[in-house]
Amino acid sequence: MNAAPADQIRLLDLQALDSRLDQLAHRSRTLPEHADIQQRSGDLTELRSLTVAAETQLSDTQRELVKAEQDVDQVRTRAARNQQRMDSGSVGSAKDLANLQHEVGALAKRQSDLEDVVLEIMERLETGQARVSEMTARRDDAQHSLAEAESRRDAAQAEIDAEAEKVTRERAAIAAVIPADLLKLYTRLRDTQGGTGAARLYQRRCEGCRVEFATADLRTIRAAAPDEVVRCENCSRILIRTSDSGL
Ligand SMILES: [Zn+2]
Repeated sequence: MNAAPADQIRLLDLQALDSRLDQLAHRSRTLPEHADIQQRSGDLTELRSLTVAAETQLSDTQRELVKAEQDVDQVRTRAARNQQRMDSGSVGSAKDLANLQHEVGALAKRQSDLEDVVLEIMERLETGQARVSEMTARRDDAQHSLAEAESRRDAAQAEIDAEAEKVTRERAAIAAVIPADLLKLYTRLRDTQGGTGAARLYQRRCEGCRVEFATADLRTIRAAAPDEVVRCENCSRILIRTSDSGL
C-alpha cells in the first residue's frame, strides 16, 4: 500500500486522539464514584428495609397497646359495675355478696396484671419509637450521601464527555483527509492490536511493540520508498517514519 508521507504522519495524530478517546472511555468506566455509589446504594437499600422493619414493629406494638388498654378498660368497667352493685345494697343474700366480693378481688388482681402488661408494652413502644427515629435519620443520611456521590459522578462524567466531544471533532477533521484505504488498514489494526494501529519508528524501535530492529530490517525499511506504507515485522502495525527514526 502506498500513501503520501504527510498522510502517514497524520495517522500518528489520529492515533493520539484515538488513544485519548480510549483513555477517556476507560476513565468513565472506572470512575471511583461508581464503586462509591454502589456501596452507598447498598447501604441505603439495607437502611430502607431496616426502617420499614422498625416501622412495622412499632405499629404492631401500637396495636398491642390499644388492645391491652381495652382489656384494662373492660376489667375496670366490670369492677366499677360490681362496686356499684355492692354500694347500692341491692345484693340481697350474703352468698351473692361474698361471690361479688370475691369477683371484685379477682378483678383488682386482673387489672393490676393487665396494667403491668400495658406498662411493659409502653416501654417497648418507646424503644420502638427511638429505633424508628434512628433508622429514619440514618436512611435519610444515606439517601443524601448517595445523591451527593451521584452528583460527583455526573460532574466527572460531564467533564469527560466535554473533552471526548472536543477530541472526536478533532479526530473527524483529521480522518476526513486521510485516504480511505490507509484509514481502513489503520482501523483494522487498531481493532486487533489493542487500540494501536499506527506506531512511530523512533530510534530504531517500533513504538507499538517496543521491539528494536536489527540492522538488516532497518536496511529494508530504509530502502522502502517514502510513500510506501511500512509495517512492523513484529506487531504488524503501520510504522511511521520520521526524522527521529534513526534510519
Ligand atoms: Zn511493532
